[in-house]
Amino acid sequence: MEIKKIAVASGNRGKIEEIKSIFRGVEITTMHELGFDGDIPETGSSFKENAQIKAKFIAEKFGLPALADDSGLCVDALGGAPSIYSARFSGGGDMENRQLLLKKLENVADRGAHFESCVCLYFPDGKAYFGEGRAYGSIIEKECGENGFGYDSLFYSTDLNKSFGEASADEKNAVSHRYRALSDLRSKL
Ligand code: IMP
Repeated sequence: MEIKKIAVASGNRGKIEEIKSIFRGVEITTMHELGFDGDIPETGSSFKENAQIKAKFIAEKFGLPALADDSGLCVDALGGAPSIYSARFSGGGDMENRQLLLKKLENVADRGAHFESCVCLYFPDGKAYFGEGRAYGSIIEKECGENGFGYDSLFYSTDLNKSFGEASADEKNAVSHRYRALSDLRSKL
């Protein structure tokens, strides 16, 4: 399928760069460049529903194919939480979220976890394509590394044998849940 231009339904620089590196040859614009700076309410009950809500909103607003991702951390001992609530886990910011996670896992031996991402490419005619990706690892007992964002400094990656917080952007991008979801999507187009 030939796609000339995609609007990304995100303002996150890191995500936009990842998308550009996978969709080489496609013109990538962002919702900000198109003049939209608002918040799109994530009212879905899964990563897939939220990704579709965001992509559909931008596709319909601007009449362009739009790409959105929704992602989060799923912790085995917490029954898969915080999942789609990862950004809103503590009611505070990234640091408060990490502190709450450590507190909930105090004296818990099962530290298994994965990051999950679902991406949706939505066309103005209503067609939608999806991609899914996971990155497996475990939650370490204290923060390690200062790179990345969110839960990166607490996530020890099975692929990299170090925390995402210690990994360079290139190292993380090569194995990340988002990269895998985008590659999965790319293979379906
Ligand atoms: P969103 O997909 O931008 O809504 O991200 C949801 C939340 O999941 C983020 O705010 C982070 O807390 C967490 N998250 C998603 N992907 C990552 C990642 O690659 N590293 C660390 N945290 C992440």
